[in-house]
Amino acid sequence: MARIVMKFGGTSMAGIERILHVAARVRREADAGNEVLVVVSAMAGETDRLVQLCREAAALHDPREYDVVVASGEQVTAGLLAMTLQNLGVQARSFMGWQLLQASGTHGNARVEAVESRLLDEALGSGTVAVIPGFQGVSPNGRIATLGRGGSDTSAVAIAAGVRADRCDIYTDVDGVYTTDPRVVPRARKLEQVTFEEMLELAGVGSKVLQVRSVGLAMREGLPLRVLSAFEDKPGTEIVERLDEGMERNAIAGIAADRNEARVTLTGIADRPGTVAAAINPLAEAGISVDMIVHAATPNRGASDLTFTVPRASLAQAVAALENWRGDIGYDGLLTDDQVAKVSIVGVGIRSNPQLAARMFDTLAERRINLQAVTASEIKVSALIAEDELELAVRVLHTAFGLDAPAGAAG
Ligand code: ADP
Ligand code: ASP
Ligand code: MG
Repeated sequence: MARIVMKFGGTSMAGIERILHVAARVRREADAGNEVLVVVSAMAGETDRLVQLCREAAALHDPREYDVVVASGEQVTAGLLAMTLQNLGVQARSFMGWQLLQASGTHGNARVEAVESRLLDEALGSGTVAVIPGFQGVSPNGRIATLGRGGSDTSAVAIAAGVRADRCDIYTDVDGVYTTDPRVVPRARKLEQVTFEEMLELAGVGSKVLQVRSVGLAMREGLPLRVLSAFEDKPGTEIVERLDEGMERNAIAGIAADRNEARVTLTGIADRPGTVAAAINPLAEAGISVDMIVHAATPNRGASDLTFTVPRASLAQAVAALENWRGDIGYDGLLTDDQVAKVSIVGVGIRSNPQLAARMFDTLAERRINLQAVTASEIKVSALIAEDELELAVRVLHTAFGLDAPAGAAG
């Protein structure tokens, strides 16, 4: 007998027929004698719809009220799944996020602080399947708080850690983690295993198959994590500390694409200590995270340019903050571009092999793809390019790093 958390994403919960399919899958695990907790997402498209309603109600809205609205999607699916399970003869009940999960930080993007496991232990002890809405928790002052888009993955991992589950299985609309998004590159290959370290970077630079925080949390907790298909019985991908002996190891584990960026360039800022801080601080104050930063000073010119990226949805807010602080920052021009995208290669091989970054730049140059900014970490290199070149960039890099599945054998 094992204690397991099963998380089902939006596509798997989109409609009664699919919920019935999920319930049958849950029943199988329960019938096998396991203690089962299920974490669910809202039906596919529902959170987008709720976000849009908030925007229509008020362009600048109270984030606490936004959370009240967007958290509702998961309440619906949790209740529906619990009653479907009961209808199949499985003892089940739903909970709400405020009963289980304490969260702190910014509303709309809150962090998990603690899991209240007593209610869950009681339910499991009485042979009941616990159905839990993902994405939601309660803030320190008792208000509902959501965990950022894709946050049900993090709910699932947090709950699994909180009840000391044996494993956490993420069921989704693809059958595992691929070398790149299989919906964009049909020749992407499924990875049997991927390390936490690589998965963390892949998720961090745009592979939305897992929310990045869920990976960090599972890694810290040493929690076995798998990504599996909600629709087919197939082995998925295991996220592991270290690959098993004999497992094929590519220098590059995968390629990620991110369209969520916008570029800001400040020209003619003074070339002296403190100017970068002066530009970035107002953004930090406004809660806007800055991703890629390139600061280039031309010797003896006395002035420099600063380029960075912000989430696309925050661009207008970032520009307003920079204009507001123009006197303190001191710049000549403020240029923006929201038609940019980030392509990244990720792999532990990068740590020891500088040729890999060079191969990335050569490959993009051969296709005349211009690099607007580049950043690197120990196991990742990212390049900012024009958005309309993104798919081409991902495809040519996927081929250049030997990741394509043999013809006719995708997946
Ligand atoms: P869910 O609703 O189950 O949480 P998501 O839409 O959040 O599902 O994540 C699954 C999607 O992630 C897939 O449909 C796929 O298009 C995308 N994806 C991006 N990169 C990858 C990757 N490297 N491997 C697998 N899927 C990926
Ligand atoms: N429903 C939320 C979203 O669409 C959370 C999730 O599905 O993980 O972002
Ligand atoms: Mg998701």
